[in-house]
Amino acid sequence: MQNHEGRVSGALAAVLRDRIARTGPISVADFMALALTHPQHGYYAACTPFGRTGDFTTAPEISQVFGELTGLWCVVVWQAMGRPAPVSLCELGPGRGTLMADARRAQARADPAFIEAARLHLVEVSPILRKHQRDALATAGPGSQAHWHDDLATVPEGPLLLIANEFFDALPVHQFVRTDSGWCERCVGLADAFGAGDPDLAFVDVPLPAPPVLPAGLADVGPGSIVERRPAADALITAIARRVCRHGGAALIVDYGYSESAPGDSLQAVRGHAFHPVLTRPGEADLTAHVDFAALARAATEAGAAVFGPVPQGVWLTRLGAAERARALLADATPEQAMAITTGIRRLTHPQHMGLLFKAMAVSAPGLPPPPGFDSPAP
Ligand code: SAH
Repeated sequence: MQNHEGRVSGALAAVLRDRIARTGPISVADFMALALTHPQHGYYAACTPFGRTGDFTTAPEISQVFGELTGLWCVVVWQAMGRPAPVSLCELGPGRGTLMADARRAQARADPAFIEAARLHLVEVSPILRKHQRDALATAGPGSQAHWHDDLATVPEGPLLLIANEFFDALPVHQFVRTDSGWCERCVGLADAFGAGDPDLAFVDVPLPAPPVLPAGLADVGPGSIVERRPAADALITAIARRVCRHGGAALIVDYGYSESAPGDSLQAVRGHAFHPVLTRPGEADLTAHVDFAALARAATEAGAAVFGPVPQGVWLTRLGAAERARALLADATPEQAMAITTGIRRLTHPQHMGLLFKAMAVSAPGLPPPPGFDSPAP
């Protein structure tokens, strides 16, 4: 076993080495879950990842228009639902709380009755980010008190509007490797130790007793192919779909990934706005993998929900009026602000930036009209 990624170091690496030495290699999914959400040394427990000084930036951090339009999307769906009160407005992984704060400001201008009706539920593992979210919402006006949850299970049942931007990409993926002699699971083990020092972490392919259960098109890939599966995402979208079918509502999922299930190793670590080797310094880099929208759509449909999209983010935002909103903001902007508004919208919508790789998908109770931005066929 070779590791070409440089010396492994850090507090979480020590925890992982110890565990692997005791119980053997762990799946890439377990590695990802520990690297991101270990209570002491996980990336989201210890870091504030966003913004120019952080490791990466996200759509709501790039332009207020993203959160505003998402907020208005919720109001229009709520009106189509018959304006239920109360309604849960739930966000999965709200980051610094920027999206929800911008959404609340736009909602208050559009329909004050929605502010009255909506109860905010935020699903967040990171205590540091929970604090950022509280501070951001304190600037967002009345009706922005929130309840925090470790996962969706404790969000009260009832009519639901749910937002998840760049949440599903952080859920753990399993990687299966097709070899000449059958299927293996890619795991993280210990490299052979030559000389002194702690052994490095290294990928190791562990043969599986039976082939993994894969959708059509992935089960018959050729030797050397890697296939990613995300059971945590399938379970979560199923739970969301069941909720909207039972009580009414819709969910909006925006993320980067594939429209159709496809083979490929998409696991990536990002630190300081640059790609970083996956196994070195676990817990100190963000770790994500492409979202398989077709898999989410299959699970939601099986649970009885209606699925719309995915639609490329650039198309979706343009349909919602991103250009018009930017023009309104430009009317009162200083030259410096005008530059930020224009480049922000371009980054979110241009196909060579986030416009094409990122996609929006909606899951709703059957019978609701197509939600805003999903009302014409995907281009
Ligand atoms: N939606 C935000 C942040 C995206 S980053 C934005 O667009 O800016 C992922 C977010 O999900 C972070 O807030 C992170 O702490 C949270 N998160 C990641 N894995 C989680 C999990 N398993 N349970 C709950 N929150 C999680």
